[in-house]
Amino acid sequence: MSFTLNKPTQELADEVALRCELNPAGTRRIGNFGFIELEDAWGDEATIVNTARISSTNKRLRSLADFTDKDRALLYLLLKDNHGTPFETVYFRYRFIAPIFVLRQWVKHRVSSWNEFSMRYRKPISMAYVPDVEARRVDGFEVLDEAAVAEYEALMAQLFDWYERQYEQACQRIDAARAAGEIPQKEGGRDPFRGRARELLRNVTPVAAYSDVYWTINFRSLMNFFNLRRKPDAQYEIRQYADAAFELFAARMPLLAETMMQVLHEKDGQ
Ligand SMILES: Cc1cc2nc3c(=O)[nH]c(=O)nc-3n(C[C@H](O)[C@H](O)[C@H](O)COP(=O)(O)OP(=O)(O)OC[C@H]3O[C@@H](n4cnc5c(N)ncnc54)[C@H](O)[C@@H]3O)c2cc1C
Repeated sequence: MSFTLNKPTQELADEVALRCELNPAGTRRIGNFGFIELEDAWGDEATIVNTARISSTNKRLRSLADFTDKDRALLYLLLKDNHGTPFETVYFRYRFIAPIFVLRQWVKHRVSSWNEFSMRYRKPISMAYVPDVEARRVDGFEVLDEAAVAEYEALMAQLFDWYERQYEQACQRIDAARAAGEIPQKEGGRDPFRGRARELLRNVTPVAAYSDVYWTINFRSLMNFFNLRRKPDAQYEIRQYADAAFELFAARMPLLAETMMQVLHEKDGQ
């Protein structure tokens, strides 16, 4: 790998390694620098049936441990018959580090909340996604060969190197102007001059560059995401993330995952 990691990127790499060590069952690495973690979830299958039963009874499950076959049947029927709102009471927060071209597809899932890494306040993550052999194959045929990938990597590295050099020069000019009294002294933690330099220099970062996101989503919307982005017609890279997000969710809520898959398969078969 020809990339030179900048300090923020090295810190992020260290943080991801730590998250994988602390939460091995809740994390996955993807591609050469990608990552996803299911950090937290609120509610469970009992929340869903309890919410639905407000229509008809005061009986509530105290916890998932009380779940019976009758509750399973209700969960299935609610999903099958598109009774959507009870499924909006269960939430998930993922964190993922993914290439910007994947984020452009992901952000189209508007019914969800995003918080993303800022390239005004920080230097970009100095890594670009590099497709492995699997990603380059269609029906066994490699659409990009090793030579093309080597050039691709070199181009990406060149862009990040250019950013680092220009940023260094901009900082030197800002410091010199400040020392000469030409621009105001920095007040507080942030420097608007450096911030503006970062805002402009980020324009050369490729869509293969990675970004870092917190994604909070209710189950109804998450099911829609899984349904659309785990299908073979979704792009390979977002499918990798969607499959990993699904595995992490299924490990946490196996009954809901199983019921969802059953309903989606039945609907697909219609
Ligand atoms: C294989 C594939 C190819 C794609 N290609 C393209 C492409 O070329 N260009 C492109 O722009 N997008 C493309 N998309 C994105 C796609 O059109 C959807 O925007 C994306 O999948 C999000 O789905 P969604 O709208 O159901 O999700 P969300 O935005 O999360 O919405 C969830 C649900 O809420 C409802 N909803 C949300 N917003 C509205 C609204 N404004 N009005 C009415 N109902 C609403 C809908 O029922 C929707 O299903 C592609 C998606 C896939 C899977």
